[in-house]
Amino acid sequence: MSDIYEIYAIHYGHHDRKAHENFLGGDPHEDGDMPLDYFVWAIVSESRTFVLDTGFAPDMAQKRGRQLIRPVHEGLAAIGVDPAAVDDVILSHMHYDHAGNLPLFPTARFHIQDAEMEYVTGRCMCHGVLRGAFEAEHVAQMVHNVFDGRVQFHEGVSVLAPGVTLHKVGGHTKGLQVTRVKTRRGWVVLASDAAHLYANIERNHPFPVVVDVDDYLEAFTTIRKLASSEAHVVPGHDPLVLARYPLAKAGLAGVVRLDAEPKA
Ligand SMILES: [Zn+2]
Ligand SMILES: [Zn+2]
Repeated sequence: MSDIYEIYAIHYGHHDRKAHENFLGGDPHEDGDMPLDYFVWAIVSESRTFVLDTGFAPDMAQKRGRQLIRPVHEGLAAIGVDPAAVDDVILSHMHYDHAGNLPLFPTARFHIQDAEMEYVTGRCMCHGVLRGAFEAEHVAQMVHNVFDGRVQFHEGVSVLAPGVTLHKVGGHTKGLQVTRVKTRRGWVVLASDAAHLYANIERNHPFPVVVDVDDYLEAFTTIRKLASSEAHVVPGHDPLVLARYPLAKAGLAGVVRLDAEPKA
């Protein structure tokens, strides 16, 4: 059984923002455009498929004023992944743009950190500023999944399979985890919201949605250690990902292969 995986980044959403909105304490004079893209990821070997994060649904795009590029299930289908047949879904964290669409995966086991479930069901959610990027509906669905025996909790570091490991970093949310994947080019780290943009990690400057700045900054160090090189770190929301990595299939815009070498 191979422990070498292919990784697909599937672009499903977009949001226009100004640069200063992407950095904690950002300088409003830095007012150039710096949009965010939204992705889910598929981690695929001969015998296993893991889906990392589940995106947001069309009604959520409307509610939150985000642009839906393609429904998540269509993006997955385009690379031959049937959500109804997926056994394992990793949730990097529970924000609305990472934990929507859960009913698309009726038989999956969901992998999440203890600290994230505690965070989204505990007293921190009494504070509007902390709960703003979460949806009670997604949290309730996950509680039902727990009662249905469909959640596998993780604490810190876990080996999901040879070649796929989870690492709690926190910072952006209490239980944010990054995923490290063995590929033909070495260990790739899917940072999700531990680094929205290449610029966040390159400048060691957090995105403004943060629960613990210390942990957020330490996460940058952890990610660098886990990845084979800085070119093996994939941020969660950067449009440059689509420019740097080759298309998974000719003619299929917005789906790229992260196990391939990036362009410089
Ligand atoms: Zn987030
Ligand atoms: Zn996000």
